[in-house]
Amino acid sequence: MSGTYDVVIIGGGMSGMMAAIALVDMGRKVAVVSRGDPVCCLSTGCIDVLAGGNDPLEGIGSLPDNHPYHLVGEDTVKRSLEMFRDIMSEGGLPYVGDARVNRRILTPLGRHKVTCLVPGTMEFADFHSDEYIHVISFKKMKDFYPDYITSRYKNAGYSIFDAGIATTAGIAERFENRKFLEGFISWLKGLDIPEGRIAIPAVLGMRFAGDVCDEISAELGRNVFEIPTLPPSMPGLRLFGGLKKALLKRGGDLYWGREIYSVEKLSNQIEAVTLAGAGRSARVQGNAFILATGSFVSGGLHASMDTVRETAFDLPVYLPGKRESWFNNNFFAPGHAIEKSGICVDQSFRPVDTETENLFVCGSILAFSEIMKYRCGHGMAIATGVAAANMCGRLA
Ligand SMILES: Cc1cc2nc3c(=O)[nH]c(=O)nc-3n(C[C@H](O)[C@H](O)[C@H](O)COP(=O)(O)OP(=O)(O)OC[C@H]3O[C@@H](n4cnc5c(N)ncnc54)[C@H](O)[C@@H]3O)c2cc1C
Repeated sequence: MSGTYDVVIIGGGMSGMMAAIALVDMGRKVAVVSRGDPVCCLSTGCIDVLAGGNDPLEGIGSLPDNHPYHLVGEDTVKRSLEMFRDIMSEGGLPYVGDARVNRRILTPLGRHKVTCLVPGTMEFADFHSDEYIHVISFKKMKDFYPDYITSRYKNAGYSIFDAGIATTAGIAERFENRKFLEGFISWLKGLDIPEGRIAIPAVLGMRFAGDVCDEISAELGRNVFEIPTLPPSMPGLRLFGGLKKALLKRGGDLYWGREIYSVEKLSNQIEAVTLAGAGRSARVQGNAFILATGSFVSGGLHASMDTVRETAFDLPVYLPGKRESWFNNNFFAPGHAIEKSGICVDQSFRPVDTETENLFVCGSILAFSEIMKYRCGHGMAIATGVAAANMCGRLA
């Protein structure tokens, strides 16, 4: 498969998919090229906009001057999050929350995660510790131990259901079966839980989790919510599925399992990319290109002993000093200096220190994002994806 497009987006994560959807909605012919599944599949499915305060949008003002959120501006951040919510509702995966309010949802460790927009199945996951909570787990389910939660809350209890299978994906698949769901509801009713909310690990199905959650809630007369689990994360997979569905429904093209093998340039313009991957190679031509390949986890950036390389176009990468100043064995260490590395862009999201005029950059590959430090992963990807699409759409 080869093709000619107004815009070709490299990277099919949150930022690339949001940029693609925004551009198709502007009437552009768009293709997304991606090596594999993005980081959002591993995530809780929640949209962290900015932790640290109660109002994430207000918090943007106090970020360092070089943070990519400043290139977007508060108004576009807000509008892009609204756009995200519309897209997910359209696909039957409504999100709840307010861009101006952070919420604290329950984690499998019994702690709280600060986030902003959450899938409808987690609407009631922000609760007061004095309220009784009954946790449901599943026999032999890995990486979910209700004792972690009940040991932190005096007012909590748990019960274990035998789903006949122990994997997250396996249980989620069972919840798509009517007979299984009815059996589960009848077991829950038999528990005679006296009061409070019911918390279930995020396994309530793939396509219709919201309906399953609502049905359990209605049958029990209680607020029911999902607790995000460790990967494989059903809410993360649902989120990615929703984005993919929205793009394909609008007529965008996907080149999946593909990465750039070579780049054709004419003067200051990228003309086309040749893709390698399973099967025959493909040539994808575009008037403009958006780089949305993510950071180290997805392979958009690659660190070797002495340097960091951008893997698609070999763009110059900003590094916070010499290796000795940023190397840390623990990649997830809070404030890890390597988090600042990435591609520096100008006000229109074009990479600096290059002559290329029709290339734009968005998402976690942007320098100074510091996603783990500021807890702004999906929020920043959504906002910069839409902002880069706005800039690119003027050209393409
Ligand atoms: C384990 C984990 C959990 C997280 N949980 C949360 C959470 O709960 N909430 C939250 O808000 N944020 C979370 N984050 C952060 C958030 O998921 C990311 O910041 C965000 O999804 C990044 O999106 P992106 O579009 O920039 O890149 P990515 O999601 O990394 O996508 C990049 C895509 O580009 C592709 N690609 C890479 N190189 C190439 C190439 N050369 N050619 C073609 N394709 C290429 C990759 O295959 C991938 O599909 C989490 C991050 C991690 C690692």
